[in-house]
Amino acid sequence: MYAPGDVRVEDRQDPTILEPTDAIIRLTATCICGSDLWPYRGVEPVDHTAMGHEYVGIVEEIGDAVQTVKVGDFVVGSFVLSDNTCEICRAGFQSRCEHAEFASGMQAEKARIPLADGTLVATPGQPDADLIPSLLAASDVLGTGWFAAVAAETGPGKTVAVVGDGAVGLMAILAAKQLGAERIIAMSRHPERQKLARFYGATDIVEERGDEGVARIKELTGGLGAHSVVEAVGTQESFMQAVGATRGGGHLGYVGVNYDVQIPGIQLFFAGIHTLGGPAPVRRFLPNLIQLIWDRAIDPGKVFDLTLPIEEAAEGYRAMDERRATKVLLTF
Ligand SMILES: [Zn+2]
Repeated sequence: MYAPGDVRVEDRQDPTILEPTDAIIRLTATCICGSDLWPYRGVEPVDHTAMGHEYVGIVEEIGDAVQTVKVGDFVVGSFVLSDNTCEICRAGFQSRCEHAEFASGMQAEKARIPLADGTLVATPGQPDADLIPSLLAASDVLGTGWFAAVAAETGPGKTVAVVGDGAVGLMAILAAKQLGAERIIAMSRHPERQKLARFYGATDIVEERGDEGVARIKELTGGLGAHSVVEAVGTQESFMQAVGATRGGGHLGYVGVNYDVQIPGIQLFFAGIHTLGGPAPVRRFLPNLIQLIWDRAIDPGKVFDLTLPIEEAAEGYRAMDERRATKVLLTF
């Protein structure tokens, strides 16, 4: 991305092993993230930046110190690089690893993956082609939605409300269902996304937003609010809607990147809720998510509603920016 709104596809030098803990992968597929729209819209600085942080592919080369993946393995990696051995990683917060770095430059045919042992997970074998989108989703949106559902303490007997019907919100619905939630309320006003939300397990749809959305959630929960709420948008309105929809003593998991959100202390104080959020420690969930996909127990790949060859990446960004696509898969 040369500058906001200016995406180009060009030839670059092949990556090489720089550290003994690196691996080089040839990507099988990559995609455009909702968060890639922040620089695209000029909210985050961008200047000739190599884009992309979601990836699956085949290991082509490994450094001398790499032990858990080998050449030829099909691998899925988290969008945050982690050593997976430090105290923070061992506590399950790999996205805050002492050595954490955000993956970048993955919208490319090849990539260097630092900290390969702590970042990559090999699949049980070479996947069938129809599993590729789902495995790619595990790299970020599925892992992030799953983390949000876990952070919101989703589980059996719980009523879960999901604010946001983008890819991450839809994946949080999938996760809530897998985690045994009794009732899942999707907050969405797009017919296509409502359909997908129901496919992934939503039992109720709420179209209202802001205070009206909160009132509707309360109406559906005997005046109490939901046990578990996922915030997957990151705007002022959506965040306060999520706080308001959480019952006293309930749990809010927030994963929408929330640059401009101001949370009035007193509102949070009187809400009396648990909150946990931030960049998802996807690495914690990857082995389990890969197995669920491998066993065809879940089908997260349906969040991709547009597939383009990587040469047309600029059109992919436009389609997501103009909301003509939820999530764009790029192929080689
Ligand atoms: Zn670590």
